[in-house]
Amino acid sequence: MKRRVSIFGATGSIGQNTIDLIRRAPDDYDVVALTGAGNIAQLAADAIDLGADIAITAHDARLDDLRAALQGSGVRAAAGTNAIREAATRPADWVMSAIVGAAGLAPGVEALKQGATLALANKESLVCAGRLMLETAQTHGAAILPVDSEHSAIFQALIGEDMAAVERIIITASGGAFRDWPLEKLADATLDQASSHPNWDMGQRITIDSASMFNKAMEVIETHEFFNIDPARIEVLVHPQSMIHALVGFNDGALMAHVGPPDMRHAIGFALHHPHRKHLPVERLDLAKIGSFEFRTPDEIRWPALRLAREVMERGGMAGAVFNAAKETALDGFIDGRLRFPQMAEVVEDVLTQLNSDTGLIDATMTLDNVAQVDHLAREAAQAVITKRAG
Ligand code: NDP
Ligand code: MG
Repeated sequence: MKRRVSIFGATGSIGQNTIDLIRRAPDDYDVVALTGAGNIAQLAADAIDLGADIAITAHDARLDDLRAALQGSGVRAAAGTNAIREAATRPADWVMSAIVGAAGLAPGVEALKQGATLALANKESLVCAGRLMLETAQTHGAAILPVDSEHSAIFQALIGEDMAAVERIIITASGGAFRDWPLEKLADATLDQASSHPNWDMGQRITIDSASMFNKAMEVIETHEFFNIDPARIEVLVHPQSMIHALVGFNDGALMAHVGPPDMRHAIGFALHHPHRKHLPVERLDLAKIGSFEFRTPDEIRWPALRLAREVMERGGMAGAVFNAAKETALDGFIDGRLRFPQMAEVVEDVLTQLNSDTGLIDATMTLDNVAQVDHLAREAAQAVITKRAG
């Protein structure tokens, strides 16, 4: 029987890699919904090619463009945030959550409510509302499978293991574009420089987050939320080759490492075929040719985001939603030239200091509405900090 699949964020880097895998076995899948935002041509072309029921753009103003691009194909068109959320209520067996940013949260929760298996690339969902995601999955008998490469690696290393025997989890980080830059040069880092990753080919936002280590900071929180492990047992290790994605340390001293090429089709394919393993079109590593792997302790002066992640986990409640929204706003500030590279972490720290003491806000019940409210206030606070700094 064909599996019904939907892809949220189909036009992005993860979405396109997912489509690449589905296209290799088109008879196995019945494509329900594809979503995108600005890239209407790609969205329409893929929706037609894969015979999707519906294609949705996040931008209301682009509905006519999408309709025109889909004309005569039989694929329905829709637009807007609500339409994306509604699309997640369409019955599907497997749903890829690969929208970038907090916008990915609501459709993911909706898909879980339908009992779908959610392949989760959108780490922001777990950072903003980890408990809500996991509880929703549990209540509705849905599964969440991690797609972030480190979390897929941990998940794979834990198969058949007892969490009680886990002493620590180590996630690796390439160190991003500025790993070896002199600290004093970081203030002059340009957008182009921050947007090029040494090993991975990803969307622009996560690439810049890799250079600042905000990506790793989010992944530490993601690890804490998804695997329900104490923050003190989570370590970050700089590994410039990006081939060991994570390691799990057990109480007998064993370390199980997951090794693979830096190609997201591995983690996506693992989630697509789970609980089976199937052939995937990724490079087979020749370890003798690679020769050696390097490891270093991350420097928290260079990457203050790692320290901030620990503060967020210690604070609990909806501090993660503050952290993510402040980070997204600061990243916009860097992309549009209002902030220098190291100022992103300063903005996030300022916003955390301002909002984390507000117990009424941060410790309110975690619902989608409350997370949205925290997100909104944190974005406003971050804008105010940026304006003050820029002025
Ligand atoms: P991209 O920027 O390449 O793609 C983002 C996708 O989201 C696109 O389809 C984009 O549409 C869509 N989108 C953008 N804004 C909105 C919005 N407001 N509402 C709805 N849709 C929107 O990102 P990536 O594929 O790199 O990353 C996607 C997610 O996966 C992120 O959460 C990221 O952290 C995570 N991830 C990515 C990895 C990677 O290798 N790329 C690795 C691990 C995790 P359009 O392009 O049409 O404008
Ligand atoms: Mg990752």
